[in-house]
Order: sequence, then structure tokens, then C-alpha cells
Amino acid sequence: MAQASLTLIGGGLVGALLAQQLARRGFQVDVFEKRPDPRKAGFLGGRSINLALAERGLQALRTAGLADEVLTRAVMMRGRMVHTRDGRSGLQRYGVDDSEVIWSVSRGTLNMLLLDAAEAAGVRLHFGQSLARADFDQRNIRLIDETGITRDVSAPVVIGADGAGSALRAAMNLHTPLGERVEPLGHAYKELEIPPGSQLSAQLLHAAGGHDQFALEPHALHIWPRGGYMCIALPNTEGSFTVTLFLPAHGPHPSFSSLPTSEAAHAFFGEDFPDLLPLIPDFVQDYSAHPVGGLSTLYLDRWHLDGRALLIGDAAHAIVPFHGQGMNCGFEDTVVLADLLAANPGDTADVFALFQAIRQPNADAIAAMAIENYIEMRDSVADPAYLAKRELGALLAERAPEHFMARYRMVTFTHLPYAYAFERGRAQDQLLQQLLRGSTDASSIDLTAAVTTLLATLPPLPELRHG
Ligand code: FAD
Repeated sequence: MAQASLTLIGGGLVGALLAQQLARRGFQVDVFEKRPDPRKAGFLGGRSINLALAERGLQALRTAGLADEVLTRAVMMRGRMVHTRDGRSGLQRYGVDDSEVIWSVSRGTLNMLLLDAAEAAGVRLHFGQSLARADFDQRNIRLIDETGITRDVSAPVVIGADGAGSALRAAMNLHTPLGERVEPLGHAYKELEIPPGSQLSAQLLHAAGGHDQFALEPHALHIWPRGGYMCIALPNTEGSFTVTLFLPAHGPHPSFSSLPTSEAAHAFFGEDFPDLLPLIPDFVQDYSAHPVGGLSTLYLDRWHLDGRALLIGDAAHAIVPFHGQGMNCGFEDTVVLADLLAANPGDTADVFALFQAIRQPNADAIAAMAIENYIEMRDSVADPAYLAKRELGALLAERAPEHFMARYRMVTFTHLPYAYAFERGRAQDQLLQQLLRGSTDASSIDLTAAVTTLLATLPPLPELRHG
């Protein structure tokens, strides 16, 4: 039986999943999405073409009954394949075995699957409807369609899942300042494409370790760290890879402003990514056709207006993409919110305040870890001090798994709150530095003594203690 009606703005990844979860819990849900229906018009991307799905996102999809369906359309990634400047490459596994992997999924495929699921659960989807303004006192919203025609719709409770540039957030800000701060990273990105192996020469494929289907090892997230900047590549099911170049937006070479033409960028790739460049035959066209995307972190003091409006996903807490957690975090949000609303549907003021209290410390933590991970990915994955810490951490995790787990694993493969992973990771890192005392040789450390110090310094991990 329908309990109450909710209006969602945005039918992207988070909006579509939230709508499905709310409808399954008995709410009547209307979603207003700016773009046309991607299932009819084709997916109009804009942001990253594919994304890494990890345990938190998967868990939300399990709750929604959609995980298996999504995984059949995803490519497993076992670890980071690091490509050094001299052309060598090596896999750094994420977890201990194939139970700890992440998945590359196409944004368009995932979005369409979630929209189908939302519709099947009874959600009413309205495409080509962009939020233009909201009157929270009159409790209605104004929508504008693709032809410019506007209409007002009653919306007593409205949830904004309309992404980093949220129009609902702007409307809420006009009513009551939300304490918005946007911190640009100063770095930006551009996407390029490695086509399926069948479109490349046998000689190139041999050099890259690929084959007819995939030009590179398919079950890995590839990284070309160059200190200060990098490229990454994620596999797509049909055999291509989406490459993302991350560079400073402005400033001295190399930056996007120092590479204004595709010819200049081609020369730069020839110098810095000589093994990658030949795998991108359409480099010149891709570079000039694809936009440079900015990267920022969004912080808000308030995510809600009493019980009348709430922000979720990127609209509340957009982060930089270097932990591959923005969507995962937004998916985790949807389960928390749907459960809170189902438990207390009559008091949205209470629910929205509680939702922010639960999720904001975690959103802040993953925002900080995502920025730190950029530095780790572009600089440290090839750095001896980082590798020594990583190796010693792995040895401690093997010897004392109840007391040590790499932060990346806590974030990526568990449901431990992000805020816990952040604090625990910091304490573990300090311990590793103390044990290594500047050495870059983990094998020189007395492991028995190190484990004794670990047990004396850090309490057991909560999930393992209670799990
Ligand atoms: P969005 O995906 O932005 O969806 C918002 C929706 O609202 C869109 O459909 C939009 O059309 C609609 N909309 C906007 N304005 C209006 C309006 N006025 N009226 C109606 N509708 C509107 N996350 C991961 O977990 N793993 C990754 O590997 C990963 N990689 C990334 C790589 C890059 C380069 C970037 C930029 C991000 C990456 N992310 C990743 C983050 C992820 O993309 C976001 O966290 C996720 O898309 C957030 O989903 P959302 O639904 O909140 O917002």
C-alpha cells in the first residue's frame, strides 16, 4: 500500500536506485530527469564512461535485488596494473583473492538497468523535465521541458539526486543558505579510448600483452603514474578501454593549458606514455573532441530544509574520483535513506536530520581519502617507501588479520564506515612508519616484534571482532 509520495529530482545513478528502493518500500515516487529517456534516445553521458563498482555499491544493489544482473554486465578488475615509464608493468592485487575485486561497469548500461528496475517497482519516470525553481513554502516545483514549456507541480517532499551541479541545491540555497563550499582540486581530466584488440595490429597487441578482444590485460585497472599526473584505463565489456588522463588544469607543462592542441598532446604522450599512445589510434580526434572535465569536492553545512527537501549523492557531497567511490558512496546513501524513511515515513524532518548526521562524517572521510588517493596513485604506486609500507602492511595483515587491514581494503571491500576507515588507516600508517624508520626494505623488519607492537598499539578491527 502506498504510504506517502516523494518527488525526486534526477534519474541518474543515485536517483534511479533510490527511487527503486523507495518504491519497493511502499512509497509513491515521481522522478523528474532533465535528459531524455536514455533507453529510447541513447545514453547522453557527459561524465566518465565507465566506473569502478566496489563492495559498498554492490551491497546496495544486493539490497535492491540487482547485483547479479549488474555483475553480468561488468568486467572484474583484480588489482592495479602499474605501467612504469620504462615500459614495464606489474599487477598489484587489491585483495587476497578473487573475493576482493572491483568491477568496471558502463555508466549508461548501469543507469538504464536502474531505470528499468525503478519503473518495474512502480516509480513514475518523467524525462526531459528539468528543475527550474522550487518554492519550499508553497511546496511546489517548476519544471521546464526540452521545448522551453514550464509547469508547476506540487511537491511536498523533494529529494535532490541531481548531481554535483544540483539545481535543487541552488534553490534550497536561495531559501536558506546551506553553507556551500566547492574546493577545486586544480587538476582536470579528459577521456580517450583504446579500441578492442581486433582493431589493432598483432605486433602492438603482442607488445602490450593483449589479444584480439582486449588490447591490455582485461582484469585490471591500469595506471600509468608519472608523479604529478597520470593516465588510468578501465576495461569495457566489448573489449575497449576508457582511458582517463589526469593533469593539472593550468600552470607549467604538463597541464591542460600547456597542451592546447591535440598535436601538442600527441607529442607529450609520445614522451610520457610511449607504450600507451600506439593503443589509441584516434588520439588526435579524441583529444580535440572530448571536453576537459573539472574536479572538485563539495562540502555543505546542511543537506536538508527541515522535512521539505533533502540532497543525496553528488548533490550533497561530490568528491574527486580517485578512490572510485562517488557512486558507491551515493548507493550506500540510498539504502540508509530508504530504511530511515520506511521506519518513520511521517516525520521527514527527523529522518532528513538523522540521515545527514549518519552520512556526513562518512562523506567527509571519503572526500579526504579520495584526494589522498590521487597523490598515492599518481606518485606513490611506483615509490619505494610506499611499496615498503604496502609490503609490511600486507605481512601484518597476514599475521594479525584481526588487527590490521589496509585502508584501501576497508574502503573497497568492507562496509566499515568510511569515517572509521579514515581514522584507522591513519593510525596504521603511523605505525608502519614507526616500524620501518625510513627503511624501504620491509623484509628487514623483525615481524614477530612488529606484530607484538601492533597488538599493543591498535585494538582489533570492529567487523572482525563482532563478525
Ligand atoms: P549524477 O550521476 O551526476 O546524476 C545526476 C542526474 O540528475 C543526471 O541524470 C542529470 O541529468 C540529472 N539532472 C541534473 N540537473 C537536473 C535538473 N535541473 N533537473 C532534473 N534532472 C537533473 N564513482 C565511483 O563509485 N566509481 C568510479 O570509478 C567513479 N569514477 C568517476 C570518474 C570520473 C571522471 C568522475 C567525474 C566521477 C566518477 N565517479 C565514480 C563518481 C560518480 O560519477 C558520481 O559519484 C555519480 O555519478 C553520482 O551519481 P548521482 O546520481 O548523484 O549524480
